[in-house]
Amino acid sequence: MTSFRDLPIRRDLREQEPYGAPQLSVPYQLNVNENTFGIPEVVSEAIASRLGKVVPLLNRYPDREFMELRGALANFLGGDLTPNQVWAANGSNEILMQILQAFGGPDARSLSFGPTYSMYPNIARISLTPYKELKRLGDFTLTADYVVDEIRRENPSIVILCNPNNPTGTPIGRDVIAAAYDAFDGILVVDEAYAEFADGLSVIDLLPGRERLIISRTMSKAFAFAGVRLGYLAASEAVVDALRIVRLPYHLSALTQAAALAALEFSDVMLANVDRIKVQRDRIVEALEGMGLKPYESAANFVLCAGFPDPQVTFTRLLEQGVLIRNVGIPNTLRITAGTESETDFLLAALKQTLG
Ligand SMILES: *Cc1c(COP(=O)(O)O)cnc(C)c1O
Repeated sequence: MTSFRDLPIRRDLREQEPYGAPQLSVPYQLNVNENTFGIPEVVSEAIASRLGKVVPLLNRYPDREFMELRGALANFLGGDLTPNQVWAANGSNEILMQILQAFGGPDARSLSFGPTYSMYPNIARISLTPYKELKRLGDFTLTADYVVDEIRRENPSIVILCNPNNPTGTPIGRDVIAAAYDAFDGILVVDEAYAEFADGLSVIDLLPGRERLIISRTMSKAFAFAGVRLGYLAASEAVVDALRIVRLPYHLSALTQAAALAALEFSDVMLANVDRIKVQRDRIVEALEGMGLKPYESAANFVLCAGFPDPQVTFTRLLEQGVLIRNVGIPNTLRITAGTESETDFLLAALKQTLG
């Protein structure tokens, strides 16, 4: 049998593996930071009804510029954003890909501070953009002085800051982001995939007057809509115009647009469980400390915890009890998604038993 490595595949891809967070059907899936609360019935009905109206029209291509959805997203984000400052794609992964396709490439240089989101280097590679990951400071924090010095030294064309950071949960101060923007002439992407879990952390209000700033968001996490694949961004109109050059025609299906529009009409219902999830996150931090472990501060819906002598052993023992968490490869750590109260009950009991 032929392996893909025997094919004339791009040389830089030959040694790669596909993205592979395990997708296992176990009772407690706390590994990819989804909102584990289901979609409320009133919203599922609204989505089904809206999809029903679109289905007979699927012989036609979807609205290529999806202005109605961009209007709804601008409205959701608030402030003075216009639909022309908003863009969407199939998950914020595709948003990041389009950003690197438009502003990256072989002559560009992209920079981030790790450990951070594992897809940044992958998306950089696929878009042929050189990528460098500098180390974060103690407890995965960043300061304005450090970030500014490193950006000046590296002179990148694109900087990606994940706020709060995945997989560590660390929030970044707005002073750091404002200083990073002023430190170079390139594109600053702030990935706010978890912003709804972090009161006051979003820097969307920094957009006016900052034409090179991009705020990336997603409906996959707090918004409980990971299955739909809807990521979006807010930026200057010029940035959005640049992305329209690289996107594939009709990239956002009519079904996706309809589902997202229906869900956005119920944004308060869709986000209703965010506070409950934050309570569970804080409860997990406290309980892990009580077990003598070292959880890091988190402003997201997950907790990275150190103190596991052999994380893979703990991971496997939890899995045997039906609990799937994530080994992100940072030594002695595991990452746990905060979900419902009963999920936390079970997780903490299982972990206690595992640690004996
Ligand atoms: C989950 C995640 C995303 C992307 O999610 P999509 O489902 O593609 O929108 C982006 N950035 C970070 C940091 C994430 O954790």
